Amino acid sequence: YGNETTQAKEVVYQVFNNFKMLYPNFVFTLDDDLPTEKTLKIYRNHFEQILIIIMDNAVKYSTDRNEVHVSISSNAKDFEIVIQDFGEGISEEDMPKIFNRFYRVDKARARTKGGNGLGLSIAKQLLESYKGKIVPESSLGQGTIFRIYIPIAKKMSEFQ
Ligand code: ATP
Repeated sequence: YGNETTQAKEVVYQVFNNFKMLYPNFVFTLDDDLPTEKTLKIYRNHFEQILIIIMDNAVKYSTDRNEVHVSISSNAKDFEIVIQDFGEGISEEDMPKIFNRFYRVDKARARTKGGNGLGLSIAKQLLESYKGKIVPESSLGQGTIFRIYIPIAKKMSEFQ
């Protein structure tokens, strides 16, 4: 992909508010430490798709504690978004496989929880094509955290 840039905050709030509307029985929190002007080196639709995949999983794999915590921040180089749930979690054994195409921890669950096991592989491929990355952390029965990093675009003033 080329030189597309996206206003990070705007897209995060849009996706976040959509999830709030779609899942009124969930508690969503958003911790925002991101300066408003931060622009990311990624095409808007791709950024949106990545957020939806991870948020959708957070909701889908929640069990009795229906909470999703999101936080956004940045350093000089990267934007960071952290999405945390308190659901079923992922075992150490399954962890290396979750980004594989068509991999699902519980095959039988396909019926009740939908999905093909494609979401995470798409998210990872998209991120890598923009020099971003995705870092999972999980503990079985406790919940899961996905940290996503995307390079920040330089401001025009920095080129002068
Ligand atoms: P879809 O193609 O609709 O995204 P999916 O959710 O099965 O279907 P992925 O998003 O690729 O596929 O996820 C792969 C597997 O990783 C899931 O089937 C699930 O077992 C596990 N997983 C992903 N996110 C979480 C999460 N937040 N908590 C627990 N398990 C997860």
